[in-house]
Amino acid sequence: MMNSALAGIGMTSLRTRMRMIDKLRRQGVRNEAVLEAMATVPRHIFVDEALNSRAYEDMALPLGFGQTISQPYVVARMIEALLGARPGLGKTLEIGTGCGYQTAVLGKLTRDVYSVERIAPLLARAEQHLKRIPGVSARLRHADGSIGFPEAAPFDSIIVAAAARQVPPALLQQLAVEGCLILPLGDKEQYLCHIQRTLQGFAETRLEKVRFVPLLSGIES
Ligand code: SAH
Repeated sequence: MMNSALAGIGMTSLRTRMRMIDKLRRQGVRNEAVLEAMATVPRHIFVDEALNSRAYEDMALPLGFGQTISQPYVVARMIEALLGARPGLGKTLEIGTGCGYQTAVLGKLTRDVYSVERIAPLLARAEQHLKRIPGVSARLRHADGSIGFPEAAPFDSIIVAAAARQVPPALLQQLAVEGCLILPLGDKEQYLCHIQRTLQGFAETRLEKVRFVPLLSGIES
């Protein structure tokens, strides 16, 4: 029962998932490790059962609490940019666990994943979803991600799934030298910002326009 639900049937089958991967390739995603990770994580596990049949369409889907699961292309693009030419992600911090889908993809790429979510019931659900994904373990925390995850710092990679107006200073502080941070920046108009920490400071690159829910402060229980 459990296994067949994981494998999926029809609109949630492996074949449907592979169509999503083909589309990501056509959209320009090139990193094979990222594509492979996304091919092995069943996205339908992470969305409401009523939305299962839409889980592999390239769109954001509602998660409840006014939040959305990120579009597959955006997840792929951000992780690909985060990796850049590096051989791996290393110790990784995710801000905005949401349903845990991106956490699972990160978990397929690195063994050391930390993820912070400010809405407690979403985090509890993400934890349940992630238990169903073999080989993935992530340390989850209910907190305001703007303060990062100080005890586990420094991080080689930091990825933020909600749009900030400015880069939260704690995240810059918690980035290892040679580490990379990717986040959506802006309010009405948002773009992806890639930041690499060097010995001299921070090198910032502006990538494409995006649309994310806002990074909010404080927590909700
Ligand atoms: N990667 C997630 C994206 C969810 S949407 C997924 O694919 O499901 C962004 C998430 O960021 C939401 O769950 C929202 O509650 C969370 N969020 C917003 N501001 C936050 C903050 N300051 N700290 C932690 N999480 C935050």
